[in-house]
Amino acid sequence: MSFLKSVLKQYDLVVDKLKLDDGVRERLRYPKRSLIVSIPIEMDTGKMKVYKGYRVQHDVTLGPSKGGIRYHPNVNLKEVTALAMLMSWKCALIQLPYGGAKGGVCCNPKIMSQKEIERLTRRFTTEIICAVGPEEDILAPDMNTNMQTMAWMMDTYSMQKGHTVLGVVTGKPLVLGGSMGREEATGSGVYYMVKESAKVIRKELKGLKVVVQGFGNVGSIAARLLFEEGCKIIAVSNSKGGIYNKRGINIKNLIQHVKENKKIADFPDVDNITNEDLLTLDCDVLIPAAIEGQITRYNANNIKAKIIVEGANGPTTPEADKVLHDKNVLLIPDILANSGGVIISYFEWVQDLQFYFWKESDVQQRLKEIMRNTFDRVLLLSREKKIDTRTAAWMLGISRISEAQKIRGLYP
Ligand code: GLU
Repeated sequence: MSFLKSVLKQYDLVVDKLKLDDGVRERLRYPKRSLIVSIPIEMDTGKMKVYKGYRVQHDVTLGPSKGGIRYHPNVNLKEVTALAMLMSWKCALIQLPYGGAKGGVCCNPKIMSQKEIERLTRRFTTEIICAVGPEEDILAPDMNTNMQTMAWMMDTYSMQKGHTVLGVVTGKPLVLGGSMGREEATGSGVYYMVKESAKVIRKELKGLKVVVQGFGNVGSIAARLLFEEGCKIIAVSNSKGGIYNKRGINIKNLIQHVKENKKIADFPDVDNITNEDLLTLDCDVLIPAAIEGQITRYNANNIKAKIIVEGANGPTTPEADKVLHDKNVLLIPDILANSGGVIISYFEWVQDLQFYFWKESDVQQRLKEIMRNTFDRVLLLSREKKIDTRTAAWMLGISRISEAQKIRGLYP
């Protein structure tokens, strides 16, 4: 099943529970606006190559749309549409004044030079400029994009407007109106969610056995913060495969190793493990922080973790959700677990609009407060209604948007 199909299947289940009327249900099923653009750029060889890019704005009822830009060979309109929908539910669940959007370019940045990536970024930003802006649609990092990419986007937008506009992009470097804590935000949020979940199952963080799939910006930071708290990180992986040591991996050393060697392979004192085997290891906490569609009906039954905290967007399919719920696994769904990124993005945007910047401690305090509060609301609803936590989180998000739509009324 495609990722979009599985997201729509989940959507149908949730709106049935919410008993939304047909019009509202239909309206939120489709994005408000989808943009497909051609991005011609000159490669270092002097030849021209044309890439395909997308920006999908799913809903803007609660405010401007918000969401990241990913660069990946699998990016396509359906995937971006599904991810934009998830952003709508995520922003509404956290009660941010935002709708949801997502964008991406189908490319392989791992085989492109920095100059080629810069040209791609600048031309892509120019092609979607008609639909973005600090009050319309605000861009951010996602898979394979980073602070530098955001700086180029902000510069391109600003050059075309004729003045510097900080609030069109979040996830920028500090010197360009970025926020304290943004780079580590998603990983920090995942760490807070593991902490809260451990309390629920009455386990100490110290000695907790953790497995992390994906060692990028989200997985490596969550792993480091948990390692510093005394958790035993027994396995980690990236797209090429994983490493395992049942006594625990020294994550600080691993981060240094990855920095120097650009790979997790060949790290001392570990066994190699495939991504499939890693998911079903005996552990307390599993953090899927790579890509969508990893926990499926084929492997859900073999999962031994008591807690799953979804760092990635969409790592679990609806069939697997059911299996995990029946097995009593405490699952913290993506739209809550990885919301640290968009929460600090929101803080960054507020700071940019006010030209007034906050201390790191204020940022962390507010992030923690919002995430804990949302965690409590999701768990409470899931217990009250005897439903799984993903359904509860989606219900909270979708009902907020539909309530706002009802009060705004239908134009014209
Ligand atoms: N790409 C991140 C996400 O999926 C962050 C989005 C943002 O900061 O706007 O939530």
